[in-house]
Amino acid sequence: MQMNPAVRLAAMLFSAFFWVATGTAGPVTARDSGVRKVHNGWIAGHKDHTWQDQQITLSSDAISYGIKYRACVDPSHPGVWVCDEGFIGMPRPNVANWYHTGFYHIEIGGKQLGSHPLTAMGITESGERGAFHMVWDTPEYVARLQFLLPPGSDHLLTRLSWRPKPGRTVGPVKVRFTCYPSFFTTAHNRQGDRTLTTPRTTVHEVTTEELAPAEDTYLLYTDGVFDVAKGEGSGPCAMLFLPEQIASGRVQLGGYAVQTKLEAGPDAHELRFAFWDLTGKTNAEAQALMKASADQAREELRAAVFSPLSLARFSPEAATAEIGELLAAARDDGTRLRPGMEKLLRTLSGLKARAGQGDWQADAEFAKQVREYEALVWKLKIFALLNRP
Ligand SMILES: [Zn+2]
Repeated sequence: MQMNPAVRLAAMLFSAFFWVATGTAGPVTARDSGVRKVHNGWIAGHKDHTWQDQQITLSSDAISYGIKYRACVDPSHPGVWVCDEGFIGMPRPNVANWYHTGFYHIEIGGKQLGSHPLTAMGITESGERGAFHMVWDTPEYVARLQFLLPPGSDHLLTRLSWRPKPGRTVGPVKVRFTCYPSFFTTAHNRQGDRTLTTPRTTVHEVTTEELAPAEDTYLLYTDGVFDVAKGEGSGPCAMLFLPEQIASGRVQLGGYAVQTKLEAGPDAHELRFAFWDLTGKTNAEAQALMKASADQAREELRAAVFSPLSLARFSPEAATAEIGELLAAARDDGTRLRPGMEKLLRTLSGLKARAGQGDWQADAEFAKQVREYEALVWKLKIFALLNRP
C-alpha cells in the first residue's frame, strides 16, 4: 500500500510540531562544505601547492559556529601536512575572536597533530543537536576532535580524545587557543587593551598570566578599547575547561593576539572545552553572562555525550521487540519490508557494539544508517495503522 496524501501531510505536520512540542529550542542544523582542493596557498614554499579545505557550520536558534579545516596536502611532501597558522579555524560567527584561520592548536608528543594527514571530517549528528568530528589515524595513536552544539545553545562544546595503538604510548598532550578579542587591532594600526577576566583575577596586556585551573573556571577575553558599549569592536569571546583534566596553563596577553596554553594532566585521556563567541555583547554584558552561566555550562560539558544521541539511545533488544510487533501489525506490508528491516537491525546492533569499543568509524557509520532505519520505522508505523483489521 502506498502512503496516501493525507497520511503524508499528517506526518509532515507532526514532524514540524515536534520541535514546538518538545521545548522552546528549535533544531540544530549542520552544513558541510565538502572537501575542496585549491592552489592558492599563502605560505612561502607552499604557494603553488595543492591545499585542502573544508568547513562545517553548526547553527542553533542562538548562533552559528563555522569551523574550517585547512592544510597544504601537496604530494611533494607526502605524509606531512602543513599550515603555519594552524589547521582549525573559526570563521563564524566572527572573523575576530577565535581566530578564523587557526584557533585550536594541538600538540601530541611534541608534534603538531595537524601535520599528520586528516583521516576524516564529517557531520555525525543534526536535528535535535548538531555535531561533527575530525579524526587523525596516525601510526602511534588515533586522535579525534568532536564538536557539539546543543539545542538553543550559545556556546560550542568540544572533546579531544586520543587512543594509543597497541604497544604504543602517547606523549604529553598540549593545546593552544588563539583569539583576537573583539577587533584586529594591530592590523588596523589601533591600540587596544586586551584583558583577561577569570573568577580569580583581571589582567591587562602585555602580560603572561599563570592559570590556577581550580579557580580560573572560566576565561573571558575582552578589549577595554574595543567594547561594543563604546561603539567599537564586535564583542568579546570566552572559554572554559574542566579543571580535573588540566595540569597547568597560562594566558599570554599580547598587544594583538592572545594565546591560551593548556597542558593535559598525566592521567587524562581526553580534554573538554566550551567556547563562546559573544559577538554583539558589551564587555559588561559578557562578564555578567559568564558569571551567571559558567557553572552550569561546565556541568553540561562534563556530562555531555559526544557520540550521536541516536546511538546512545539505541537498544538492540528493545528495537528488535518493537520492530517484531510493527512487522506483524503491518501484515502484508510487514512481510514485504521484513528482510530489509532485519538486515538494518543487525547492521545497527553490530555498529553499536563496535562504537562501544571506541571505533570512531562505527560511530560515524551508525549515524548514517540510523536515518534509513528511522524512516523505515516511521513507514512501518503508518502501515500498521492503515492495515488494522
Ligand atoms: Zn605544501
